Amino acid sequence: METGFVLPDLDSEDSAEFWAGCARGELLVQACGRCGRWRFPPRPMCPHCQSIDVEWVPVSGRARVWSFVVPHPPLLPAYAELAPYNVIVVALEEDERIRMVGNLVDRPDGAINAVDPASIEIGEPVRVVFADVGDVALPRWVRA
Ligand SMILES: [Zn+2]
Repeated sequence: METGFVLPDLDSEDSAEFWAGCARGELLVQACGRCGRWRFPPRPMCPHCQSIDVEWVPVSGRARVWSFVVPHPPLLPAYAELAPYNVIVVALEEDERIRMVGNLVDRPDGAINAVDPASIEIGEPVRVVFADVGDVALPRWVRA
């Protein structure tokens, strides 16, 4: 389905497992098969020990807002219609060095401009939810 939004390649060798997890309602990160350290976004080699052994581990989906921006036009048309909206960076509860980019929404299928950006606070707790956007189960964040 064409949404006008920029969506990931679900078949990318590095990240297919991540998106398959999202489709099951699971948030996954890569854990190095040698040193055990987590990494995100998905990539083939551990940045700490250079091992290519990898496991995928589910995380709780609990996180805190680490930073955010409020995009304004010029933007791609699908985004310009919704601006201003928020883009947040969250730090996972289990390992705050693991950060993910998404939108803070009021419910899983809520619009990305439904939360007033002025109300967002650095450090506030959030939890992951998943919304079907086109063919993708997209992780998004709601207030915990
Ligand atoms: Zn490693």
